[in-house]
Amino acid sequence: MIDLAEIRKTLSDPSPKLTEELARQAHTLTQQYFGRMITLYAPLYLSNYCSSHCTYCGFHSHNRIQRFKLTPEEMHREMSYLARKGIEHILLLTGESYSATPLSYLQEAVHIAQDYFSSINLEVHPMPLEEYRELFLHGVDGITVYQETYSPQRYSEVHRAGKKADYDYRYQAPARAAQGGIRHISLGILLGLADAAEDIYALYQHLRWMERHFPGVEYSVSFPRLRPIKGENFAPCPVDDITFIRILCLTRIHFPRIGINLSTRENPALRDHALELGVTRISAGSNTSVGGYTVIPSDKQDPQFDIKDHRPIEEILRVLKQRHFDPVLTDWRRISHEAIFD
Ligand code: SF4
Repeated sequence: MIDLAEIRKTLSDPSPKLTEELARQAHTLTQQYFGRMITLYAPLYLSNYCSSHCTYCGFHSHNRIQRFKLTPEEMHREMSYLARKGIEHILLLTGESYSATPLSYLQEAVHIAQDYFSSINLEVHPMPLEEYRELFLHGVDGITVYQETYSPQRYSEVHRAGKKADYDYRYQAPARAAQGGIRHISLGILLGLADAAEDIYALYQHLRWMERHFPGVEYSVSFPRLRPIKGENFAPCPVDDITFIRILCLTRIHFPRIGINLSTRENPALRDHALELGVTRISAGSNTSVGGYTVIPSDKQDPQFDIKDHRPIEEILRVLKQRHFDPVLTDWRRISHEAIFD
């Protein structure tokens, strides 16, 4: 596998020719393994209650924001809005509060989501294996759990309180999810928090380990860049656009078959460009506030972070088709899960 020195050299070499060469290889491999397919998903925030204190996040426990969690009726409103837009892959998110959004709350949300979506992915607090298994049996097919940074020192500096401060518990969460039966696992790092080369190297090692131990799982990775919250910037190690593009290309070159996600944290021009370089899953029409689609008026919303691509789902679909991509709204249908553990 590529070593740390090689990653560092690739990310720091100033030659534009290197970017071009990486882009050429990444483009070819993406065409070879995925054709022009781009899967669309939308995030839906269920709750912003959080008992952790992550310095970079608008939901952290010390921040004086209005705390909400959606009621079942509000979940129906938000979900039917997105389903009417054509979304079939949903990513349900919460802050990390084991008391405000316990397993029973998540199960109820998943139960409602099954009325609207074919694929249900959760980005919530890490949990024990038995709870992942319960959620799988209730219809969850994907789990997103980013380590944020693999530097233990930076991790403890920015995760100051709450369960999220437990580095090892989080690191082992993808393995517990896989053991629980989850079929799609998304790993990632928050670019801007720590040395990018070191984090990329550690992420690749984590991913290789997961692939070796759980070869039946479908993997994807994300590289969210730290975004300001209400204009305030929190990135101690900012990553510029060229480095970001190289990270996407390098990942495609070393992991030709995995999905690469790109969220609306990035601006439209960069997102459109990245589609040619390895990205296979994008969010569309996103809102990062609880109840942000239909429940809470926009002037009263407290987003988790500011987004840069505000294009509605319809426009993203139009752009994809115009550029000869095949937008995929669903690549997954649920069958009975019970039979698997009989
Ligand atoms: S990143 Fe997650 S755990 Fe940390 S403060 Fe934000 S919502 Fe809470």
